[in-house]
Amino acid sequence: MLKTPKTANKIIAALKDNGYQAYLVGGCVRDLLLGLNPHEWDVTTSARPDEVTKLFPKVAPTGIDYGTVTVILDKENFEVTTFRSDEKYVDGRHPSNVVFTNDVHKDLSRRDFTINALAYDPQTKELIDDFGGQKDLKKKIIKAVGQPLERFSEDGLRAVRACRFAAKLGFKIESDTLAAIAKTLAVTQKVAPERLHDEIVKMLSADKPSIGFELMRQTGLLKLIVPELEAGFGVEQPRQFHKYDVYWHNLQACDAAAKGNIALRLAALLHDIEKPSCKDGNHFYNHDQVGAATAENILKRLKFSNADIKKITGLVSQHMFNYTSEWTNAAVRRFIRRIGGLENVADLFALRLADNQAMEREIDVQYLTELQKRIDKIVGEANALHIADLKVNGTDVMETLNVPAGPKVGQVLDALLEKVLDDPKLNDKTTLLKLIKDYAA
Ligand code: ATP
Ligand code: MG
Repeated sequence: MLKTPKTANKIIAALKDNGYQAYLVGGCVRDLLLGLNPHEWDVTTSARPDEVTKLFPKVAPTGIDYGTVTVILDKENFEVTTFRSDEKYVDGRHPSNVVFTNDVHKDLSRRDFTINALAYDPQTKELIDDFGGQKDLKKKIIKAVGQPLERFSEDGLRAVRACRFAAKLGFKIESDTLAAIAKTLAVTQKVAPERLHDEIVKMLSADKPSIGFELMRQTGLLKLIVPELEAGFGVEQPRQFHKYDVYWHNLQACDAAAKGNIALRLAALLHDIEKPSCKDGNHFYNHDQVGAATAENILKRLKFSNADIKKITGLVSQHMFNYTSEWTNAAVRRFIRRIGGLENVADLFALRLADNQAMEREIDVQYLTELQKRIDKIVGEANALHIADLKVNGTDVMETLNVPAGPKVGQVLDALLEKVLDDPKLNDKTTLLKLIKDYAA
């Protein structure tokens, strides 16, 4: 017997009481059978979207064209989708025509993998498993429902999903299913980047994202999606520091970064992305800066948010910081400013640790503790670290210099902050106003 939550049971009961068929379906059933905690509960039903909408007080038409509505009950969201038997896929992305059916078996047959084509009735405890999903869960394999070539030709995202599930569950991809990926790359090429984004993010939350990326490399998917990452394959690094080539070093650093922190994992995955192009003998000059620009391109292409991009490229560009005890307090303050503020310290240090774990031998990272202590001290002293901490603002600059708003104002504030980073005592309104006048002169 599988343990299902009360609210999900209520939804199934309401649908069935009104004469419809209804089951929990897909990932939640798979995860229950694996003894994992499902993160969402999807329902499949013979009721049409308008009928579902009538049955519950709060319903949002989230994917109504595909038969999906979101039922909001007890403050939780449930995706309720009408049984579908999809018609031909036209563009490798969307079925040309979504056809509703009253047959749960047809609905299961359109699903991607055997382990995802499972439906469960929490009332009768009936488990519908038409394609050997339970057997494949035991064998730990990802296997397409039906003919893999056909299924991957219909929807190019499924190939990426196969790699994602392999990483997420620690499963192997069954051999025919794996072989079909390489043969349908042209279909995957047509997939919208927004859909790839979601799969990549899910892959990054696996225990070992490297499993998924390596499967993508072996099948040819990586060349389509992140060719820059593949470019590091076989690029050797000095043996005294490194046991991996650039590609594996990036992947291992990604695995070593904390699982719950997607931005950190992406920064780790991309931190040495431009080492191949910057390689000069045993050196990789400027690979952090060039790499940050490349990371930005990759993340833009994959539709990451501007906030994510800023955070991740900042980490990539700063990952080579080289702290020594000789740093003056001004140098520590400049460091905080350079990395974009205190909120990035923890991630940058975590990136350094992940980077270090993916090397030949872990070096002593005591210096991070020392630097952290010095940062804490500076924070405790309430020193100005950002423009916003200055005791004057843009209006003061405009009034003192009698200039309009514009880049000039920013330049003056930057110059003031530079002085204050050197000498915190200067952060006093009278002193700064005088410095603004000097600046004009
Ligand atoms: P997760 O735990 O990551 O949410 P999931 O299996 O629930 O895994 P979803 O992307 O939420 O994955 O999709 C829900 C279900 O819908 C899947 O289990 C599968 O049955 C079906 N499905 C999703 N995407 C596809 C697709 N591209 N082709 C066929 N079936 C799909
Ligand atoms: Mg799901």
